[in-house]
Amino acid sequence: MVITHREKTENTTICPSCGRWEDLVERTGFCTTCSSQVGCCAICGVKLNDTENHSLCKSCRREEWLRANADVIERYMADGHSLRLAIDYARKENDEKINCLACGGFVKDTRSYFCTKTRRCKTARNRLKYLYYKKGVPKELAIRTILTALEKE
Ligand SMILES: [Zn+2]
Ligand SMILES: [Zn+2]
Ligand SMILES: [Zn+2]
Repeated sequence: MVITHREKTENTTICPSCGRWEDLVERTGFCTTCSSQVGCCAICGVKLNDTENHSLCKSCRREEWLRANADVIERYMADGHSLRLAIDYARKENDEKINCLACGGFVKDTRSYFCTKTRRCKTARNRLKYLYYKKGVPKELAIRTILTALEKE
């Protein structure tokens, strides 16, 4: 069997929902994918409320965020900041990445570089789509071109 050489943990077994050999979430008895499909947190299996558009509950999301930002947090703590402050700084660093490059405003969609608040932003956004997706211009270059054009306007 193919599954024999897959690394197994204590919880690895066949998911009763999809039949794959997976680590099951204890609380739901399903694998992580199936757990989130039935509206439960993919890590701890707690029932999520319907308005939450996530596959993880709040506390697991927080854990994940802390893990993802551990390097940044550690860097600030090494500079002598408290954990609380380090987390604040890490948050700010993250925010900066999703500030609109045209107006500096907040960009909701983290995959975007521009918001839709002003015409300038919308134009920039459309130009990026055009250059990057249609023309195949590398993203960095496309953004630089757009920003230079914006400065002249
Ligand atoms: Zn499953
Ligand atoms: Zn959870
Ligand atoms: Zn903007």
